[in-house]
Amino acid sequence: MIFTTRFAPSPTGPLHLGHAYSALLAHDMARAHNGRFLLRIEDIDQTRCKVAWEKQIYDDLSWLGITWDEPVMRQSDRITAYSGALDALWARNLLYPCTCNRRDIAAAASAPQEGVTPPTGPDGLIYPGTCRRKPQLSPSTSRPLGALRLKMADSLAYIFNSQNTLNFTETGKSQTDCIQITLDDAIQTVGDIILSRKDFEGSYHLSVVLDDAAQSVTHVIRGEDLFEATKIHVILQNLLELPSSEYHHHTLIRDPHGKRLAKRDDARSIATYRSEGASPEDIRSMVGL
Ligand code: GLU
Repeated sequence: MIFTTRFAPSPTGPLHLGHAYSALLAHDMARAHNGRFLLRIEDIDQTRCKVAWEKQIYDDLSWLGITWDEPVMRQSDRITAYSGALDALWARNLLYPCTCNRRDIAAAASAPQEGVTPPTGPDGLIYPGTCRRKPQLSPSTSRPLGALRLKMADSLAYIFNSQNTLNFTETGKSQTDCIQITLDDAIQTVGDIILSRKDFEGSYHLSVVLDDAAQSVTHVIRGEDLFEATKIHVILQNLLELPSSEYHHHTLIRDPHGKRLAKRDDARSIATYRSEGASPEDIRSMVGL
């Protein structure tokens, strides 16, 4: 299998030093392995994405000396793939509609034990299951539109082996590690995640696993802020019978106060450094490459 990695930015703002680090690291690793480096534009949430930011991404990456080996994949072109996966999960009775908003979830999650902080997972508060307990539509009816959640416990029953664990390989720590996800861990620290939203078909977690598989990505190289979300990705890969990748979660680039860089942090955008006369080599040394 050819070593294949990707950079998957969302065009919701300018690329900053953290993105440059992620893209350069993945690109360098692909080239060092004689492998492929691919680019994917994660623009599934059209309410937040702008064409101008997408153009700036192509421009900044090219300026950094990054080349990609296939035409760019754009999530907005892949809605049929996301809908197909949702239909299949619905037909397997693994989804249910959810009408809760953030406030409902916060209230229900903190209701059982007053004063105890409700548990959070990679997607925020663990969903307390309110809509799962409502009368359910039959999976033979067509899938409803709107927000849909994964029935985590039922899904895990399909995929867990006799030891009740799933594994993935992580190479981003000081050494290669086999990370184990247990059944209890997945129920308690992940829960019934959203797989489709009211305003678009799909969710980040669903699209990322479908897209990585469609692009034959063998090595996912990305920031350590997504390490916990990898549990969700490995669960979905198993559920949808997609190949699993190896993962390398790198440290995040932080500002002088130790805060991770945000898209709105314009001062550290690549475009700003460029306009101030920095060279691609300057950017490489700023991020420690
Ligand atoms: N689109 C995500 C971001 O911009 C990256 C997702 C990924 O690498 O899996 O943070």
